[in-house]
Amino acid sequence: MLFQWMKNRRRRKLAGEPFPPEWLKIVQSNCRHFATLDLGERGRLLRDIRWFVAEKSIEVSVGLVLTDEMRVTVAAHASLLGLGFPDPPFDRLQSVILQPEVYVGTKIVRDKSGLELHSQDARIGETSRNGPVLLSWKDVVRQCRDEPDGRNVILHEFAHLLDMVDGDVDGIPPMDSEEEFRTWKDVTRNEYRRLVNQSQLGRRTLLDQYGATSEVEFFAVASETFFEQPFEMKVLHPRLYDVLKSFYKQDPAQRWGVV
Ligand SMILES: [Zn+2]
Repeated sequence: MLFQWMKNRRRRKLAGEPFPPEWLKIVQSNCRHFATLDLGERGRLLRDIRWFVAEKSIEVSVGLVLTDEMRVTVAAHASLLGLGFPDPPFDRLQSVILQPEVYVGTKIVRDKSGLELHSQDARIGETSRNGPVLLSWKDVVRQCRDEPDGRNVILHEFAHLLDMVDGDVDGIPPMDSEEEFRTWKDVTRNEYRRLVNQSQLGRRTLLDQYGATSEVEFFAVASETFFEQPFEMKVLHPRLYDVLKSFYKQDPAQRWGVV
C-alpha cells in the first residue's frame, strides 16, 4: 500500500517534468515507431519511458557499460507494446539484463521418467515469469537501427511477459471478453498450423518460422511482425492482424499510413 502510494507519487512527479532532450534523440534514432505516433501517443510513450527507467532495474553483464541509450531503447519498445492499455502492463517486472551479444543459455526439460535433461543453445533474448528479461544488446541495436526485417527481440520478449500476466504461458494473453478469447483461439490456432505447415514444406513465410516452435513462440513472433511489418501482415494475414489489433488496441498499419 505504502509502496504503491510512493510509486504513484513518483509517477506524478516524473509526468510533470520535461522529457530529457538527449533521451528524445535516442528515442528518435532507435525507435522507428515514434515518428508514426500522433501527439497524444508520443506524450504517453515518453511518460511511460520515464516511468519504466525509474522503476525497473536495467543492468548489463560483463563486457558492457550501462548507458542511457540502453535504458531508453529498451524502455521505448516495452512502452510501445503497452501503449494501448490503460496503464503500462509490466508492473511485476523487476529487471532487464543486457548481454553484449548472442549468449549461451541452458534449457532444462524433464523426460517421462522425471529425469532432468540439460541442453545449451545460442540466444539473443529470453524471459521468465516476472523476469528478468535478458537481451543481446548487439542484436537490439541491429534490429532497431537497420532496415526493418520484422524482427525485434525487445518486442518479442515483452510479448512473452504479456502472455504470462494471467499466470499461464500458453500464447494466449488476458482477453477482455469470452468472445474475444474464442476468436483469438480460432484465428491464432489456424495461423499457427499454417506456419507449421509452410515451415515443414520449406516455404518462405512473412512470420519468422521460429514461431512454428510452439503457440507460445507464435504469439511472440506474431507480435513482432504486427509492429514491425504491419502492412505486410494486414495483407497476408488479415484475421491475425485484426485479433492482434484488438488485443494491443493499436493499429500500426494505419499509423504507418500505408493502408
Ligand atoms: Zn520467444
